[in-house]
Amino acid sequence: MKRPSRDHDTYAMARERMVEEQLARRGIADPKVLMAMRFIPRHFFTEESFWGKAYGDHPLPIGQGQTISQPFMVALMTQALKVEENDRVLEIGTGSGYQAAILAKMAKKVFTIERHAVLAKRAREVFDRLNIHNIAIRIGDGTIGWSEFAPYSGIVVTAGSPDVPQPLLNQLSEDGGRLVIPVGERGFQRLKVITRTGDRWQTTEDVGCTFVPLVGKHGWAEGEK
Ligand code: SAH
Repeated sequence: MKRPSRDHDTYAMARERMVEEQLARRGIADPKVLMAMRFIPRHFFTEESFWGKAYGDHPLPIGQGQTISQPFMVALMTQALKVEENDRVLEIGTGSGYQAAILAKMAKKVFTIERHAVLAKRAREVFDRLNIHNIAIRIGDGTIGWSEFAPYSGIVVTAGSPDVPQPLLNQLSEDGGRLVIPVGERGFQRLKVITRTGDRWQTTEDVGCTFVPLVGKHGWAEGEK
């Protein structure tokens, strides 16, 4: 097998093409999202043997049976959050750390929760290597949220849930906080965008999608089919 290139300029070009062909051309219009995805080196968040595939139009395995989402899905979810530079954002499902790094480029502070300690540790190493210092990682069940730092302007769940976890609704800021979450069956979900105004939560539905399961108190039970 051909070794992937170690020349990082090669990946800058691949990244530029990814943004143009997979994102801009398919309707991702928020310039901040496009800027962040042009900036963050996605290949650093995968094993070196996958570097050659890191900018392709598909998810990639990251170990522990988990995946880093397809670039378009990362862009779509990020765009739906409408992140602003003073925002505090919470992510459930750190995985490789790629989505968190994109958010960290756009927000003031990112809080991210991962249930697999191995993945959390690896993500921390990549953040350090890329000099990203505004991300806090917690190992545990993200379906209960992270109440110490609530409320959040945005919460994004990057795993598929049977229902919307109530704690996450409660931890949204009252003045337009947004929750982006795939909800549905194990093998197929719809992306929901829920916006809070005071004690009202308004839901809109977006595209169909397939995420690995959200496993926890307010998600799927471990081993459940
Ligand atoms: N955002 C990630 C994609 C992660 S895949 C990225 O950019 O790479 C989904 C992740 O959610 C997996 O790593 C999985 O272990 C994690 N996960 C599933 N249920 C969880 C829960 N209840 N709390 C925290 N993490 C969870």
